[in-house]
Amino acid sequence: MTAALKNTSYDEDALVAAVTSVLPGSRPLPLHEPEFIGREKEYLADCIDTGWVSSVGSYVDRFETLVAEKSGTRFGVACVSGTAALHIALVAAGVSRDDEVLVQALTFVASANAVYHAGALPHFVDSEYATLGLDPDALDAYLGEIAELRDGAAWNRLTGRRISAVVPMHVFGHPVRMERLAEVAERWHIIVVEDAAESLGSSRNGRPMGSFGKLAAVSFNGNKTITTGGGGAVVTDDEALAKHLKHLTTTAKLPHRWAFDHDEVAYNYRLPNLNAALGCAQFEMLDRFLAEKRALAEAYERALTGIPGVEFFREPDGCRGNYWLNAVLVPDRAARDSLLERLNGEGIHARPCWTPMHELPFNRDCPRGPLGVTEALVDRIVNLPSSAKLGRRV
Ligand SMILES: *Cc1c(COP(=O)(O)O)cnc(C)c1O
Repeated sequence: MTAALKNTSYDEDALVAAVTSVLPGSRPLPLHEPEFIGREKEYLADCIDTGWVSSVGSYVDRFETLVAEKSGTRFGVACVSGTAALHIALVAAGVSRDDEVLVQALTFVASANAVYHAGALPHFVDSEYATLGLDPDALDAYLGEIAELRDGAAWNRLTGRRISAVVPMHVFGHPVRMERLAEVAERWHIIVVEDAAESLGSSRNGRPMGSFGKLAAVSFNGNKTITTGGGGAVVTDDEALAKHLKHLTTTAKLPHRWAFDHDEVAYNYRLPNLNAALGCAQFEMLDRFLAEKRALAEAYERALTGIPGVEFFREPDGCRGNYWLNAVLVPDRAARDSLLERLNGEGIHARPCWTPMHELPFNRDCPRGPLGVTEALVDRIVNLPSSAKLGRRV
């Protein structure tokens, strides 16, 4: 990935023809569709027939094992959504009221919302071209300018607030440079909580995403690689944290045969067994979906290579991305909007990247570092249809 495409022509017609050549003829063509071609109905019927539809049941336990296994962690805690998972991961990590939490500006709004839910304030930082995700070197330099270490914690010298955590997000499934981020975070006594919502099945140097942070949140929303309808999970290697997370998701109820006692303010965040049943069936399809998504990405890459002014976003070196969403970069915002108009006009659901966090009205007063790369990327990214089944025919 290069910083900018200078002195280059751009050929939108060739780009549209190439994208169309990869896709089937049916319209409309959604950006990302869930697919239920395994044992979903069987497992759901089992929940109904046995009466185990709610927060207790064998599927929810099995689902937790499956998500931990795929994330390379010892424990998984199922939650009602990825946002809820990120929220309680931050709480369990010790993020306190009025802390600042470093969040990349190039992310889905849930990353920042979860920080607010924990009572803290998001502090926006920049991405890098090679991964689209948080830039650990830029972060290190920035912390050197604005932060100081005091009493074993990082403090923002400009706002007087503690910086307690950092939330790297693996954009479209492509891994952040986590080894370098771990060094930076350790030096600054900042806890790493991965927003691995989009990156189930991705790995970096052979290690699954979700296993790098102290904790990580995964999403199983309807548009993710596999789905529970709505749902999420926290994954971690830390047994004490996993126990606390389970407690926090189940109203902090103390186990007892008949008494109803609770020992802290907590949440009703437990994933119902029904949703977990859907998730267990989806997990059986995951490796197949990942292979199909990879085939689709390879087909896009072949078709788009050599078109002037166009870059297909490839997984970073040493990484295996899940290609949750395919992304193409065009020269500028005018080219982006023109392409989006044209593809959507033809019933091909392409979309831009999210509005970056610092441009949303409710985030206006949040602290932020330089965000030049984020802004350049937002102007240039277009996501293309990415459902696994599109890779079945290429
Ligand atoms: C999907 C997603 C989430 C979580 O979303 P839910 O819909 O709450 O499951 C969080 N962060 C990112 C970056 C996401 O893409």
